[in-house]
Amino acid sequence: MTLANGIRQLSIPGPSVLPEAVLTAMHQPSPNIYGGDLVDLANSLYPDLARVARTAGDAIIYIGNGHAAWEACLCNTLSRGDHVLALLTGRFTLGWMDVADNFDLNFDTIDFGNRGPLDPEQVADALRQDSKHKIKAILVVQTDTASSVRNDIKALRQAIDRVGHPALLMVDCIASLACEPFEMDDWGVDVTVAACQKGLMTPAGLAFNFIGKRAWEAYKRADLKTGYWDWDRRVNGKIFYQKFCGTPPSHHLFGLRKALDMLLEEGIEAVWQRHTVLASAVWAAVDRWQTDGSISCNIIDPSHRSTAVTAIRTGDNNATNLRAWCEQEAGVTLGVGLALDGVLDTQPENLFRIGHMGHLNVPMIMGTLGAVDAAMKALGYSHGDGALEAAARALSNS
Ligand SMILES: *Cc1c(COP(=O)(O)O)cnc(C)c1O
Repeated sequence: MTLANGIRQLSIPGPSVLPEAVLTAMHQPSPNIYGGDLVDLANSLYPDLARVARTAGDAIIYIGNGHAAWEACLCNTLSRGDHVLALLTGRFTLGWMDVADNFDLNFDTIDFGNRGPLDPEQVADALRQDSKHKIKAILVVQTDTASSVRNDIKALRQAIDRVGHPALLMVDCIASLACEPFEMDDWGVDVTVAACQKGLMTPAGLAFNFIGKRAWEAYKRADLKTGYWDWDRRVNGKIFYQKFCGTPPSHHLFGLRKALDMLLEEGIEAVWQRHTVLASAVWAAVDRWQTDGSISCNIIDPSHRSTAVTAIRTGDNNATNLRAWCEQEAGVTLGVGLALDGVLDTQPENLFRIGHMGHLNVPMIMGTLGAVDAAMKALGYSHGDGALEAAARALSNS
């Protein structure tokens, strides 16, 4: 017997659930790529992406995943030998550094651990010591998908400004764009990197750079530029074909168009609010599980938790077995835990993640929490009762 038949629930922090409407929009024959509807559709995406990122700056669409967005951002703004300050709050900034491995950049890091956010004052202190302004860029992740912390980007910018340091502020919003509040221009972000398969509800394959004025200044000096990632060609290319440096990813563009329509129709603030409420149901459930066991949210202070993903510690209870029960017996796929000790590509046994980003509603979130609750009972893990009751109450209080 299995309880896993029915619609399978994907609760990992990316790729996220694909809306039926996005899939339907992609179901088309190949279009003419040299003119006509596809060109109009593609050109309509740039201003709408910029609306989602809250910027009057330029948006670029690459064929690629988040790693592509990372690399493109660095090679359009930096030069060999430049110093870069990377802020660590989990593991994704390390991944960003990793793609720059052979760029001949000098990385300094500040590690804020993996149970809370970065401290802007500590960043300010580091910048104050750099009186010659050797540091050219600061890399930070808004939501670190491994620890599930959300960093305060606005406070970080204010700290940089207090010191009067000219380094570019580069923010990875791959997990957070269209999930968590983000104001690229108001907060003074110079480059935002993102991808389509999380909050933007489109199959993995599109990467984005959003470029502010100061980043364009840096672009002029950068000597790491390469033809394929070059920002200027992508923004100012006279022929449509140049915007994608080759054949455009037509079907991804169809899907993204639909996803943006859905987000803008709902209203981006309403989208953020929905994520906040659904996340609060997850935290309420974990709080109840915690009363009688070792289950707990990795990020201790709720005000610093991401509303797109929650990393959950399972203490002595085996998270791999819990995920396996949910997948095989209940039809719910949970996110693997990612090592928080700086070692890339390892999965700890006492951590799992629930992705709650993108196309998500009450039955989906309650279904996932219900499956985890049942798994803990089936596996005999000690846990407090009343998790689903608490989750429902959190939803009703909204
Ligand atoms: C998913 C993710 C990435 C990596 O994206 P890929 O598409 O897998 O390359 C980078 N940063 C963050 C914060 C992410 O959540």
